[in-house]
Order: sequence, then C-alpha cells, then structure tokens
Amino acid sequence: MRIILMGPPGAGKGTQAEFLTQALKIPHISTGDMFRKAVKEGTSLGLEAKRYMDSGKLVPDTVTVGIVKERLAEADCQNGFLLDGFPRTIPQADALENILQELGMNLDKVINLEVGREAILKRLTGRRVCKSCGAIYHMLYHPSSQGNKCELCSGEIYQREDDTEATVVNRLEVYERQTAPLVEYYEKKGLLLNILNTAGDEKVETITHNILKALGSGQK
Ligand code: AMP
Repeated sequence: MRIILMGPPGAGKGTQAEFLTQALKIPHISTGDMFRKAVKEGTSLGLEAKRYMDSGKLVPDTVTVGIVKERLAEADCQNGFLLDGFPRTIPQADALENILQELGMNLDKVINLEVGREAILKRLTGRRVCKSCGAIYHMLYHPSSQGNKCELCSGEIYQREDDTEATVVNRLEVYERQTAPLVEYYEKKGLLLNILNTAGDEKVETITHNILKALGSGQK
C-alpha cells in the first residue's frame, strides 16, 4: 500500500506512522526524520536544512524532492510505503506524481489527520522526542516512565528546537499557507480520507483503528 499521511504539525503523524507502518509492514518515510538525521550527522544536506528547520520554514522543494526521489527508488519501497511530512507544497505533490510515474507506481490513499489549532499548540509545546531512537513522548499525555530517559532505548529525551512556542506558531502559518491546499488537491483526485480528531483528545489506538478501517485493511 502506498500512502501519504497528512495533517498540521502536531496532528500525530509521527506517532500514527509508527503504528501504521508496523501494521501494514511498509517503510516509514519521514522527510523531517531524514533532515534531522542529516543535521545530527553534520552532512551538507543537514547544514542546509537546519537553516530552515530552526525557524519553522520549509526546506526548498528542490532539496526535499531530491531526497524523496532517492529514497522511493530503494528496494524496500517496492511493495509500498508511508510518506509522512511529504508532500508539503503543491509543487512537491506534482513532483511526487512524476517520481511515481517514473517508478511505475500509483498512490493508494492520502490520510488527512484533522486536529484543531488549540489542541495542536498544547500538543507541540509538550512534545518530547528521544535523541537516539526518535520515540515520541508528551509531558502531559504520554510521559516516559523513565523520567527524561527513553523507555525503549534509555536515550535522552529532549524538546525539538522547532517545538518552542514561537516556532510552532510559525510552522502553523506555513502549514495553512503552503500545505493545507493539498487537502483539496488530493480530494479532487479522489484519494483523500479525512480522519477527525478536532479536540485532539482521541486515544492514539482509536485513531490508528479508524485509519486502518478507512483503509479497508480488515484490522480489528
Ligand atoms: P516534521 O518533522 O515533518 O515536522 O519536519 C520538521 C521540519 O523539517 C519542517 O518544519 C521543515 O523545516 C522540514 N521539512 C520536513 N519535511 C519537509 C518537506 N516536505 N518540505 C520542506 N521542508 C520539510
């Protein structure tokens, strides 16, 4: 299955992506994770991406499309993939269409996680991430039982630089201006599945269940 997972920052894309890719046995392709890895490794891609990421801006389309193109051509994407955080602009969506055409692939579905603005602000500023394995926690909703260490790998838990309040507000503006138009773009193509969680208070498992049901995977 070839899926895009969309939604504003803080809608729970990363968390849902973990569960969905396990259930569907497909690779999780997160451009944000790819950029963060490059930043950590200090590569030239990382140095360029960091300039945009720290202020909540989008990395230029040419750079982003290039890394996705390389990744989708890898063998493990042959039987499907879940794209998380890409595309984020109409030109990226058009570029994706060309990439998939070249690879002889079609998109199956685009999942749109709908969460209201209030809930998003609360979620993002409380979000914490493991520096080593990327596991996602939340100060209020899902704290680690190991304090500031990761439950899975004992790595250090930290706040992403772009999860501070000022950057979050900027990221939401960028989302509304550049990414939200993709909802209509994919609706017109008949690929959109809206998953509602307006107040942001649904359980993670409920959302996963609703997505799998909507995808028709037969998951209980
Ligand atoms: P994310 O983890 O998906 O919220 O991404 C974190 C940051 O990485 C974003 O705020 C952007 O600066 C950058 N980024 C991730 N995906 C993209 C994309 N598709 N296009 C441009 N920039 C991106």
